[in-house]
Amino acid sequence: MNYISTRGQTERKTFSQIVLMGLAPDGGLMLPESYPQVSATMLANWRNLSYKNLAFEIISLFAPEIPAEDLHDIVSRTYTEDVFGTADITPVRTLSDGIKIQALSNGPTLAFKDMAMQFLGNLFEYVLAKENKQLNILGATSGDTGSAAEYALRGKKGVNVFMLSPEGKMSAFQRAQMFSLQDENIVNIAVKGMFDDCQDIVKAVQNDHAFKEKYHIGTVNSINWGRIVAQVVYYFAGYFRATANNSERVSFCVPSGNFGNICAGHIAKQMGLPIDRLIVATNENDVLDQFFQTGEYRPRSTAQTYVTSSPSMDISKASNFERFVFDLVGRDSQQIVDLWEKVGAGTGFDLGNRLPEIREKYGFTSGKSTHADRLATIKQVFASDKALLDPHTADGVKVAREVRLPNETIICLETALAAKFDETIREAVGEVAIPRPAKLVGLEDLPQRVQIVENDDEIVKQIIRAKLDN
Ligand SMILES: *Cc1c(COP(=O)(O)O)cnc(C)c1O
Repeated sequence: MNYISTRGQTERKTFSQIVLMGLAPDGGLMLPESYPQVSATMLANWRNLSYKNLAFEIISLFAPEIPAEDLHDIVSRTYTEDVFGTADITPVRTLSDGIKIQALSNGPTLAFKDMAMQFLGNLFEYVLAKENKQLNILGATSGDTGSAAEYALRGKKGVNVFMLSPEGKMSAFQRAQMFSLQDENIVNIAVKGMFDDCQDIVKAVQNDHAFKEKYHIGTVNSINWGRIVAQVVYYFAGYFRATANNSERVSFCVPSGNFGNICAGHIAKQMGLPIDRLIVATNENDVLDQFFQTGEYRPRSTAQTYVTSSPSMDISKASNFERFVFDLVGRDSQQIVDLWEKVGAGTGFDLGNRLPEIREKYGFTSGKSTHADRLATIKQVFASDKALLDPHTADGVKVAREVRLPNETIICLETALAAKFDETIREAVGEVAIPRPAKLVGLEDLPQRVQIVENDDEIVKQIIRAKLDN
């Protein structure tokens, strides 16, 4: 299994070589030369596997050079009931209207990013120890990536984490989760700007090749291939839980911002998992909905990005989207270079002529949910099912209901727990007890550690130097 860049100017690499890498040197994203294909026999053999054994089977297809014993050890330490709260890891339940919900949000930070990040933390430790290397993670987060990365890497040897977040844009719970960590190897930096500004700083530092090399800068934001691979696993797990046999088909509805989660769904479908539709649900920041409705991709500036009540989707430039478009244009890297030149120039592009393929071959469709929709959905599901949805998951359920076809099985991915977003929950349903895992009671009262800085990559580099030069 070799990995190539969407921009076509990077030599072939192995899984171990790309897992510590962020953007490819040519500015593209790495992905497999071809997707491994899953046969009917493999699907049959996998149906009753435990989550960790399923993870082993799927990830080993993408990382054949990791010795089986080592990979077994990594997934066994990652996907435990202790870390994810249930033996099922991602249990599937059914709402009274028939929509299914797959819980991806029972990890340490109560959001789906733990699913991949806990794996990555263990994988990094393994790869670094093996190669006798050190790594300094520089990441950007709109809330959930950062905390998931910090909880996966806290206290791990050979790794420091420098995490940028947009100042004042995360919920009180998200801030408390990240900023209350007292581990020496965790550095929180709040930037006066939006998530996209944080992401631009990460890119600017990455593009300073001398700095990047000297300080061993790596990344775990959503473009990391190791994360995408780990996410592919739960599409298979959800399919097996939601169906009685492998002749059935399902659709997935995924609350989306950076296109990371649903990119893994695209890969699962390309591998041969019987997925009918991949439904992209956006909030008011509807750049992806616009693309899947019209074929026009018009990324927006920070100033045009709304602050919403599903904040982890407040993104107007979807980093992982390039991986899907690469497949869509027949893996023609010159076209990707041309299209992303237009993204860079601020005009975006129009692939409206490919809408039939986007719908039929790739199964994509989309919808959008607003603040009012989100509140109404949370309120309605609370009334009908006595359960609280988090705002992002509510966006997914709203869109799933809207686009659902007769007899279609739709699995909505639950990307966070309601406990993380209590203000919005109270706005929707009034004063209620919002269940919170016992470990997290009193979180907001803990002392917090964070540095607040101007939107300037030089300042961030200075913080990194100060920490690592002594
Ligand atoms: C990150 C996140 C999303 C968006 O996922 P993408 O992979 O960026 O599309 C949705 N919901 C929650 C709760 C998240 O943390």
